Amino acid sequence: MQKFLEEIVATIGASDDRGQVASYIPQLACVDPNQFAITVATVDGQLYVAGDSDKLFSIQSISKVFTLTLALGKLGDAIWSRVGREPSGDPFNSIVQLEHESGKPRNPFINAGALAIVDAILMGHQPKETLAEILQFVRYLAEDDTIAIDDKVARSELETGDRNASLAHFMASFGRLKNPVDYVLGTYFHHCSIAMSCRQLARAGLFLAGDGKNPVTGVRVVSPRRARRINSLMLMCGHYDGSGEFAYRVGLPGKSGVGGGILAIAPGRASIAVWSPGLDKIGNSKLGSAALEKLVEHTGWSIFG
Ligand code: GLU
Repeated sequence: MQKFLEEIVATIGASDDRGQVASYIPQLACVDPNQFAITVATVDGQLYVAGDSDKLFSIQSISKVFTLTLALGKLGDAIWSRVGREPSGDPFNSIVQLEHESGKPRNPFINAGALAIVDAILMGHQPKETLAEILQFVRYLAEDDTIAIDDKVARSELETGDRNASLAHFMASFGRLKNPVDYVLGTYFHHCSIAMSCRQLARAGLFLAGDGKNPVTGVRVVSPRRARRINSLMLMCGHYDGSGEFAYRVGLPGKSGVGGGILAIAPGRASIAVWSPGLDKIGNSKLGSAALEKLVEHTGWSIFG
């Protein structure tokens, strides 16, 4: 595996055709696109790292996997009255579907859905308290207390977040938010701005590869049924309107972020984190997707056999 990952770094990771870094968040626009990392954490406790696997990057929407897990822990299935479980087939920040569906977002991984999830977790608390809880949860999953929010990225998102603000106000107009819109937005922008390395991210995702239990520490995070369900949502909705393409090419549950990271889960086998900041037209890491496709070809880890 180690040799194979190094080969991926030397081939795919060195490609000239790297896609474009996200430019709508100014702080992400300054990230050097020539970086590449891949980490595989296996359920039997091996950790294979290659490339810039210790370099911190903005996990962006990958954080939505962790906020969904937290929300399910707090509200259980009641969360599904606030957000759906269907692929959207629309861009991550689309507003059109919301009007047709009375302000109820299609799924927890599009921006509107993640705003609904944050609103659920806030439960009348101050954004700072909720953020501390989210951060504590991510640190616990990754077994790493150094994980933090990149305030520069959060500020950059806040300053240019008109689209997300529109989504939140639109949902509020349908009576869908229970907390003040600025609380929801502030918490959302900050959790998207958590900075992690591929090594940390792969470890944080291990519970989803281990039937809800971190197979290395033995700590149960969610029930096997809940882990299966989170994985199925990642497969169907984790790459926005590119989810079908990702399932076709890679065949693993995965969640991407506009920082260029992807967390992919091979149930029963491994948690995989890749990072390459350049994105394809839909907003998913271009080389990250290619690397995962290659990894699955090599390992036979597709959930479809
Ligand atoms: N914070 C980003 C936004 O709200 C997240 C998008 C993403 O990673 O897909 O636009």
